[in-house]
Amino acid sequence: MITRRLLLGPGAVASFMLSSAAEAKRRGRVTSSSAPLVMLDPGHGGKDPGAIGVSGTYEKRVALAAAQELRRQLLAAGRYRVELTRGRDIFIPLEERVAIAQQRGAALFVSMHADALADHSVRGASVYTLANTASDAQTAALARRENAADRFAGRQFHGVAPDVARILASLVRQETRSGSARLARRLVGSFSSEQMDLLDNPSRHAGFVVLKAADIPSVLVEMGFMSNHEDEAALRQAQHRTRIAAAMRRAIDAWFAQTEPPRPEPTRMAG
Ligand code: ZN
Repeated sequence: MITRRLLLGPGAVASFMLSSAAEAKRRGRVTSSSAPLVMLDPGHGGKDPGAIGVSGTYEKRVALAAAQELRRQLLAAGRYRVELTRGRDIFIPLEERVAIAQQRGAALFVSMHADALADHSVRGASVYTLANTASDAQTAALARRENAADRFAGRQFHGVAPDVARILASLVRQETRSGSARLARRLVGSFSSEQMDLLDNPSRHAGFVVLKAADIPSVLVEMGFMSNHEDEAALRQAQHRTRIAAAMRRAIDAWFAQTEPPRPEPTRMAG
C-alpha cells in the first residue's frame, strides 16, 4: 500500500503541478509579474447572442474573436498581463464581469461589442464611458439594450455604498472617470488616425452597468454595428478585427504611458 502510494505519488504530484501551472497560465495568474492587468470583456455569450447581424452574424462571436486578437497583440508587447472575462461561449451577468475585474485587480477594463441600432445606415466604431445621464438618445437606447443582457440572468445591479464610505468612494470614482475619459479619447484618436470609420461624435456616455467599477477605468467599445451591412461584413473578417485590435492596442499603450509613472529599477534586499 505504502509502496504503491510512493510509486503513484511523484507522478500524481507532477501531474497536479502541471495542471495547476497550466491553470495558472490560462487564468493569467503569473504572480511573479508586476505588469498591470488589462481585463478584456467580450460582450454577451452563451444564451445571450447579443445583436444578430443583418446576415446572421452573432455579436458574441465577433466580440470574442476581437478580444482574443487584442489579447494576442497586447501580450506580444510583453508589458501587460491580459485576461478575458470569458474566453469561450458562456454567459456571464454584467455585474459579475465587473466583479471579475475587481477580484483580479485589473488596471483597465475594456468591454468589446458590436451591437445593432434601429437605423441600419449607421456605421463605424464608437467608445462609451459611464455617466448618470446619456450623451444622446441613441446611446441611451444602446445602454438600455446592453444592460438588458442581464434579463438572461434574472438579477439586478445593487450598488449602495454606506454613507461613510461614500465620500472616499466618490474621490476614487472621479479619478476612475477621468482615467476612463482619457482612454476613450485615446481610442477615438487611434481609430481616427487609422482612418477607420467612426460614428458621428464617437465618444459617448450613458449608464452602462458593465462600466460601473468605481475603481477601474472602464470603457465600452462598439467596434461597429451588426445592423449595418458593411460593418457586419467587415467584422466577420479576421483582417479587419486585427486592424481594430491594433488601433486599440496603440490607445492602451498610450494610456499606460501617460498613467504609469516610470518604474524604478527593482532594488534587491540582501539576505
Ligand atoms: Zn453588445
